[in-house]
Amino acid sequence: MGNTSDALEELLKELSHQSTRERQITTDKKGLFLGVYAKHPITNENIPVFVANYVLYEYGTGAIMGVPAHDSRDYEFAQKYDLQVKRVVKSAFGEDNLPFEDDGILINSGFFSNLDSKSARKEITAHLKSMGLGEPQVKYRLRDWNISRQRYWGTPIPIIHCPSCGIVPLRDEDLPVLLPTDVSITGHGNPLESSRDFVNVSCPLCGSAARRETDTMDTFFDSSWYFLRFCDSKNTEKPFDVSLVSTWMPVDFYIGGIEHAVLHLLYARFFQKFFYDLGMTPHKEPFLRLITQGMVLKRWLSVEKLLDKLGLTTEDSIDDLGLKLTLPEDPECLRSLK
Ligand SMILES: [Zn+2]
Repeated sequence: MGNTSDALEELLKELSHQSTRERQITTDKKGLFLGVYAKHPITNENIPVFVANYVLYEYGTGAIMGVPAHDSRDYEFAQKYDLQVKRVVKSAFGEDNLPFEDDGILINSGFFSNLDSKSARKEITAHLKSMGLGEPQVKYRLRDWNISRQRYWGTPIPIIHCPSCGIVPLRDEDLPVLLPTDVSITGHGNPLESSRDFVNVSCPLCGSAARRETDTMDTFFDSSWYFLRFCDSKNTEKPFDVSLVSTWMPVDFYIGGIEHAVLHLLYARFFQKFFYDLGMTPHKEPFLRLITQGMVLKRWLSVEKLLDKLGLTTEDSIDDLGLKLTLPEDPECLRSLK
């Protein structure tokens, strides 16, 4: 193990200089066999244990099972270090290239063979549970989020930097901080730094000359709780009143693009839970249901066909349409429009 531990120290040193982001996008997979094996909980096979630069500690416990036949990063790693690539899922459509990352039918998996991926996930989890080795869990991962930026447009961050007291939050009576208008917008640097009145302030604690924070918050910050503010948008004393958000919230239907599902909606829920913990809202969740644009739920009607059936065209007026729609509904006609 002597050589291994030297080489390991070397590798860990190298990795510690890389950010998570760098390690996520790294194309050069690096690893080191630790000289030890883990026992596969179901098949009892010996699995070699490696340290690898593309495994992120934020994901699960940081120790993960590689699946080289079904994960492109693990596949690349296995090729480089000449590890066994064992196919355990086959395509239902006869594709045989590796890595195969879609769902399919299990093979080489003992009594789980021939199950489809979806059922196999359930069965394997249940099996591990019966062995006392694990249980199903829902996991959330909120990405680290830098809310500040060096732009004029945005919500000012109510913080003062004092040479003696350090970072000092503004007093409530000094809120809200309004953006100054005496700024020069040059396309270089943060325009807020050009406003002397904005930047030069006195410290709320000791009164000595201090500097106002000039970064502003990004718009995601506002979009994470605007629905609560909408319930009480004229309130000048606080973000919103608990009685009003109790009445109007939660939002019945949230309609938005699916691209919101992983960032905005998670942050919005995070804010809601934060306000809930502070006792500012009685609801743990901000939205009851999500409908994403572009998702076809069940039925659709063609507008042109509908107009045609009614004897109208897109050139006709809305009054003509109104007249036609007052006629008794003809189920046969509606069926033919689908
Ligand atoms: Zn001070």
